[in-house]
Amino acid sequence: MGNVPFIDLQHEWKEQEKEIQEAFSRVLKKGAFILGDEVRKLEEEVAAQCGATYGIGVGNGTDALVLHLYALGIGPGDEVITSPFTFFATAEAIMQVGAVPVFADVRPDTFNLDAEDAARRITPRTKAILPVHLFGQMADMTAIVQLADAHRLLVLEDACQAIGAQWEGRGPGAVSQGASFSFFPTKNLGTCGDGGMIVVNDRDMAERLRRLRVHGSRQKYHHDEIGWNSRLDEVHAAILRVKLKRLNAWNEQRREIAALYDSLLNDLPVTVPVVDARALPVYHLYTIQAERRDELQAHLNSKGISCGVYYPVPLYRQEALRKLGYKEGEFPHTEDLVRSSLSLPMFPGMTSKQAETVAAQIRQFYEGS
Ligand SMILES: *Cc1c(COP(=O)(O)O)cnc(C)c1O
Repeated sequence: MGNVPFIDLQHEWKEQEKEIQEAFSRVLKKGAFILGDEVRKLEEEVAAQCGATYGIGVGNGTDALVLHLYALGIGPGDEVITSPFTFFATAEAIMQVGAVPVFADVRPDTFNLDAEDAARRITPRTKAILPVHLFGQMADMTAIVQLADAHRLLVLEDACQAIGAQWEGRGPGAVSQGASFSFFPTKNLGTCGDGGMIVVNDRDMAERLRRLRVHGSRQKYHHDEIGWNSRLDEVHAAILRVKLKRLNAWNEQRREIAALYDSLLNDLPVTVPVVDARALPVYHLYTIQAERRDELQAHLNSKGISCGVYYPVPLYRQEALRKLGYKEGEFPHTEDLVRSSLSLPMFPGMTSKQAETVAAQIRQFYEGS
């Protein structure tokens, strides 16, 4: 039985090697490396892909969240409701602007923020809801936007794992105050380093963000406010523009692998990812809930199959967030997932045979033989 890596980025690069090298040379020859045409065009292309109006390229996905929160006026004294079952950066960004992350539990089926639990966490200090589109499936934007409208709250989306995903036919950022993306190498659209983008629909907000990413400056050496140095490099933008052309096809390949996994695993004591009928997922990760998860992971590893636990520690149990004062037991669905979730190999270019190997080993673990 062959080894199956968790992710293999070589496929993506090889598929477009020549075009990417040409894009790279184009930037080197031009000699304009910061905030030029490539970034501007990528911003338009990513915004269009999402059905949002403006894109603002920044240094990484975390900065995208920080700048967006800040530009929305969220700061000290404000609470932002978000998911505790996500990468640390989601809550870190809220802390960075001086606001307080307030966690609401996730839904046990989709792993995404539960709007009903979010409703219970609203206080007079709540300013925004920050859903995370985990593992590539968008959260229930219908319920979240409805809740936000009823309480006059802002909605900003952590779409770092969900570029190309849709909810009721619309991408991240289309029906909210905007969405943040990461171009970290392992994301569905990744570059050879760090990068990020915010998409928004409001023109003034877009201009504010363009200022904030470059020292609060609209015109060189004239500074309107304190900002950041957080830009997307031309080289990365040029590469990402090449890769963006393949994004939908790659996401389709991920959905095909997911469908194969679904069919091969359906009679085993694991729960395959549940997709809401209104969602078009992009399977950033294919995450099952498994009985005896740790033993299953050890078994797969011993057969040369890499898999990962996302996430082993929920945010309310992170040392850095201890001062928020959460108690264990407040988030039963998140606790279940922390114990049972296991992400299987998933990447564009993965073969049916590789998925079959993974499924066969899962079967062997539960059924013997
Ligand atoms: C990757 C990721 C981020 C952070 O993106 P970076 O580009 O690494 O800063 C934030 N939130 C989620 C859910 C992510 O997966």
